[in-house]
Amino acid sequence: MRVEIIFLGSGGGRWATITQTRGTGGFRIHTEKTKLHIDPGPGALVRMKDLKITPWGTNALFISHCHPDHYTDGEVIIEAMTKGMTQKNGVIISNFTVLEGFGDFENAISKYHQSKALKRYILYPKDSAKIYDMELVATKTKHGDPYGIGIRIKTKKGDIGYTGDTEYIDSLIEDFDGVRVFIANIVRKKNERIRGHLCSNDVIDLVNSMNKKPELVVMNHMGVKMTNPEKEANYIAENIGTNVIPAKLGLKIELLEEGYLSYMIGQEKK
Ligand SMILES: [Zn+2]
Repeated sequence: MRVEIIFLGSGGGRWATITQTRGTGGFRIHTEKTKLHIDPGPGALVRMKDLKITPWGTNALFISHCHPDHYTDGEVIIEAMTKGMTQKNGVIISNFTVLEGFGDFENAISKYHQSKALKRYILYPKDSAKIYDMELVATKTKHGDPYGIGIRIKTKKGDIGYTGDTEYIDSLIEDFDGVRVFIANIVRKKNERIRGHLCSNDVIDLVNSMNKKPELVVMNHMGVKMTNPEKEANYIAENIGTNVIPAKLGLKIELLEEGYLSYMIGQEKK
């Protein structure tokens, strides 16, 4: 049983996305039965081609909320999932806004594309969905999209947590307590707090409040003001006593036995 996480970039926020100074393709989780794409923002397909990852075989798509750096390539991923829309296949897991639209946000994934999935889940915090050999549990966020969610992914090799976009809220402590790999969307460094997002110090507080700390924290969705991710990773690590690495295009993490992870970077690009 293999469980791998592959990153298609490390960027997020408007400026990093517009300039593509960091990739915004989201990340994928691959097991024997599941090929799940999470938050495919602009360039997801291009980054996959660069990394020689085939989109064919994708059978699940998760989109955390209705902002373009998380959803723009979602419909193309569905087209890959459904053999170019020729057959119904795969599952879509997302929130109310992305699939139904809310206020000024139109549904980001067309009803036509949604209709080609075998199953479609609209999750609210604490809802769960069983897909193939994993279970997804939605977590709460506080962000521009009021229905935005994060996700706790339960695999046969332990849990992976993904905050989605959120500012610090106490529920994150319990929602991600005990995950093996904690993927946190950290837009800014140190104490540079902005509304709707996490900064490094938020993540330090969060992890230090957990009963069981993660084996690894991955900094994801970094904005242009995160100028030295390695230095920032060291800063967070020193303050939480657990390993921290910045996401990178091509970063691959494999969950081995409890206490052991392997990680390597396929290509030295941002
Ligand atoms: Zn957002």
